[in-house]
Amino acid sequence: MNDALKTDPLAGVTGDRPVVARFCPSPTGNPHVGMARTALFSWAFARHHGGKFVFRVEDTDQSRDSEESYNLLVDVMRWLGLDWDEGVEVGGDNGPYRQSQRMDIYADVAQRLLDGGFAYKAYDTAEELEERREKARAEGRPSGYDGLHRDLTDEQRAAYEAEGRQPVIRFRMPDRDYTFDDLVRGPITFGADNVQDFVIVRANGQPLYTLTNPTDDALMGITHVLRGEDILSSTPRQIALYEAFAQIGVGSGVTPRFGHLPYVTGAGNRKLSKRDPESNLLGYRDDGFLPEGLLNYLALLGWSLPAVDGEEKDVFDLAEMVEAFEIGRVNPNPARFDLVKCEAINGDHIRRLSVEQVTERLLPYFQKAGLIADPATDDEAAVLAAAAPLVHERISKLTEAVDMLRFLFVAEDEFTVDETDAAKQLDEKGLTTARAAHDALAGLETWDTESIEAALRAALIDGLGLKPRLAFGPVRVAVTGSRISPPLFESLELLGRERTLARLSAALSS
Ligand code: GLU
Repeated sequence: MNDALKTDPLAGVTGDRPVVARFCPSPTGNPHVGMARTALFSWAFARHHGGKFVFRVEDTDQSRDSEESYNLLVDVMRWLGLDWDEGVEVGGDNGPYRQSQRMDIYADVAQRLLDGGFAYKAYDTAEELEERREKARAEGRPSGYDGLHRDLTDEQRAAYEAEGRQPVIRFRMPDRDYTFDDLVRGPITFGADNVQDFVIVRANGQPLYTLTNPTDDALMGITHVLRGEDILSSTPRQIALYEAFAQIGVGSGVTPRFGHLPYVTGAGNRKLSKRDPESNLLGYRDDGFLPEGLLNYLALLGWSLPAVDGEEKDVFDLAEMVEAFEIGRVNPNPARFDLVKCEAINGDHIRRLSVEQVTERLLPYFQKAGLIADPATDDEAAVLAAAAPLVHERISKLTEAVDMLRFLFVAEDEFTVDETDAAKQLDEKGLTTARAAHDALAGLETWDTESIEAALRAALIDGLGLKPRLAFGPVRVAVTGSRISPPLFESLELLGRERTLARLSAALSS
């Protein structure tokens, strides 16, 4: 093995076959950020090499998997726009793509491994294993399986079975080192002592990840396995299984290349856990991230576009990523998840949209907030289209537009003014300003941005001698309910004369 391989991710596996990469999450809990990063990198790798992308679901653990979680995974992949050529929901030649529907396949492979002598039945009880493990630890020996039941005679097996013991199936790990050329990390060696015979089928007949994952990779023709670093220790076992598969005719006989993606860390440089709130992928959708913004940020967790003329480019779209996605450029060091940067990048993507596009993206958020009906009335759609340009440049998440524009859509009897802002802006002086604004606006002939601006400037700046900041603050708070709003004169135009005056009057009489 040498470093040169790292620069050619296709060496050793594909020949004239296309690249086939995969994403194969387990449906437990909410889809999380680390998962999406893995999906994105595998997808970009497949697309970069003009290959296929397979999406299968590893749902063999009935106690932890749920249908709800499965649906969320499909939902999130569709929302992100990471399309797959084969897999759940779309089908393909190597299905089914849910492991729960492939149990007969795993039983068959396990039996062939047993028949070929690559695996064996082990009858040790949990207590026996624990006792031997303790002893090994105390003596400073490796504490994995000691191979005691590796070579039982038929009589010994029969005797255990007569006792009513149910065996697990263990894979017989060849007694040698395993070296592979990781696509991200370069050559990695696992010493023979570090990888013991491992369980592939539980005593109750349930096949484990250790068997199902490489079986599917082999049968689905996967050429490249990209996954999180947490699974690195499984790789020598999987390579050994592949070598056995080649002898018993499971799959094509070619071992895939492996690449282990760096950990994602959160606050305090801790590994981001599934349970951290910033891990929850659907939270980003609810919060108003664009899928393209989130994907752009996720791409930066361990990867970056090559600099051009020394210039780093942080904001890019998926097509640019696909074009440039060299797996050898992935940095093996932990990648820090920085929500502030993620939001900033999302804001850049919002600004890349046209006003029409941003209006379209905003609509569901206004509907979810109950501010616009579903389907929207013509009036609502027109107000949103007119209001979108006011916030387009100012938001980094779509939900911020909902907060900023709520005043336009809320029913009059539900309109409220932020109390802290009111206390600051609508004191005695502020109320005087609001009264002057009311009177100036009441007499306006034409209700448009220019006339509103001219009338307010004349009344408040020339008339009351106020500085602009002091002049418009009270009007803004009284009419939009908050100190933070889109540009004032445009906002008033959109709100209309009647509602503007009613809100100024309400402020004066409260
Ligand atoms: N189902 C495994 C997981 O979600 C897949 C690991 C792999 O990619 O091999 O962690």
